[in-house]
Amino acid sequence: MNENGEWETHWGSSAIVSVWKTSTDMFSTGYRIKKQEQEYILHSYGRVDVALSHGKNAEAWDVEGKHYYDFTSGIGVNALGYCDEGWVKAVTEQAGKIQHMSNYYYCDKNTQLAELLAKNSGLCRSFFCNSGAEANECAIKIARKYGEKKHAYKIVTLENSFHGRTLTTLAATGQDGFHRLFTPLTEGFVYAKGNDVEDLKAKLSDPEVCAVLLESVQGEGGVVPMEEDYLKAVRALCTERDVLMMLDEVQTGIGRTGYFFSYQRAGILPDVVTAAKGLGGGLPIGVCIAGEKVKDSFAPGMNGSTFGANPVVCAGAVEVVSRVSKPEFLKKVQEKSEYFKERLLKMPNVEFVRGRGMMIGVKVKDKDAHDVLNACAKAGLLILTAKDLVRFLPPLTITKEEIDAGLAIFAEQIK
Ligand SMILES: *Cc1c(COP(=O)(O)O)cnc(C)c1O
Repeated sequence: MNENGEWETHWGSSAIVSVWKTSTDMFSTGYRIKKQEQEYILHSYGRVDVALSHGKNAEAWDVEGKHYYDFTSGIGVNALGYCDEGWVKAVTEQAGKIQHMSNYYYCDKNTQLAELLAKNSGLCRSFFCNSGAEANECAIKIARKYGEKKHAYKIVTLENSFHGRTLTTLAATGQDGFHRLFTPLTEGFVYAKGNDVEDLKAKLSDPEVCAVLLESVQGEGGVVPMEEDYLKAVRALCTERDVLMMLDEVQTGIGRTGYFFSYQRAGILPDVVTAAKGLGGGLPIGVCIAGEKVKDSFAPGMNGSTFGANPVVCAGAVEVVSRVSKPEFLKKVQEKSEYFKERLLKMPNVEFVRGRGMMIGVKVKDKDAHDVLNACAKAGLLILTAKDLVRFLPPLTITKEEIDAGLAIFAEQIK
C-alpha cells in the first residue's frame, strides 16, 4: 500500500507498474499477447513489460527474441533454473507413463518424495497439495486439531508476514493492507512483532493459543531475517507452553537460503513446516510436513486435494530435492551468495544488502525499487521487489558468469 493508503501497489511479490508502454509495434506478438491479457484476464497482476518465451538456467528470451538475465526464477520457483536437463527428463518421462492418478491409489514418485523430505527435514510425514497457501491451510488445520481438546484455537503470526491469498492465509498474513475489502476473514489470528521475544511471550500467555506460524526470513515483507537467537527462543517457548512451532518455508525452503530448510541454520526443529515455491522446480506443488508430535493428526477424510501429489510434479520434485539436498550443492549456494552480496556492496548507490543464500534484498539510494525494476527489464535483467527493496531470487544453479553479467546491468541502472 502507498503512503496515501491506496490499494493499487499492493499486489504482492512483483507489484509493478503496468501495461505495455514500450511495445509500440502493433503487429508484434508481444502486442497481441498484452492486448489479449488486458481483455481476457482479470486484472489482479501489475505486469512488467515482458512476454517471456523460453529460457536456459538464469537466461531467458522474450517472444521477440530479446535476451534477459533472469534473477527471479519465477519468484523462487525454478530452483534448478529454466529447463534443467535432469528435471526435464524426469518430468517428461513421467508424463509419458502416467500423468495423474487419484489419491485412492499408491504413487511411487509421491512416496519417494515424502521419504526424501522426511530424511532432509528431520520431520515425519507429508501432506501434498498445489500451492504455498494450501500448504499453510493444512498447517493451520493441524494446529486447530492439536488445540481442539484444550479449546485452544488461536495462532500467533508475525507483523509484516505473508502466508498466502486464501481467506484464512490472508488472515494469517500480518499486514492490514491485504485484509481490506475481503473481510470478514477467518478468526483466531494474533500478530506479534518479529525478533521480539518479550512480545511473543506476552502473546503466548493466552491459553487459547495453539500454535505459532512464522517465516524465518520474511520474503514479501522485504527480505527481513529473523535472528538465530529469536528462532531458538521461539522453539523453547513453544515447547514450554505446549504450542506448535510452525515454519512457513514456502519461500525460504528447498535450498533457497543455503540450507535445505532455513531452520537448519539455527539448529532447531519445528513441529510443522510448509514448503512450495522451489519444491517442484517449476510445477505447482505444496507440502505440509508434520513432525513427531503431530504426525498422526489426520485420519482418512480429514484433508485432501484432487491434484495434490500429482506424479509428474512429484517426479520433478524428486529430482529437485535429491540434488538440492546434497551438502556440496548447498555449500555452493552459500558461496555464490557471498559473492553476489560482495559485488552488490561494491556499488556506490547500494545503501544496504540483506537476506540469506539466494534470497537477497537491496536498498538502492534515492531510487524507487519499481523504477529500478522497470529500467532493468528494459536493459535485459529481470528482478523483483519486496516493499521498498529490490529483491533477487535467482535460480540456485546460477553460475558466477551469469551473476557477473546480470549485476553489470544492475550496476549500470542504479548509477
Ligand atoms: C509465496 C508465499 C506463499 C504463498 O504461496 P502460493 O503458492 O502463492 O499460494 C506463502 N508463504 C510465503 C512465505 C510465500 O513466500
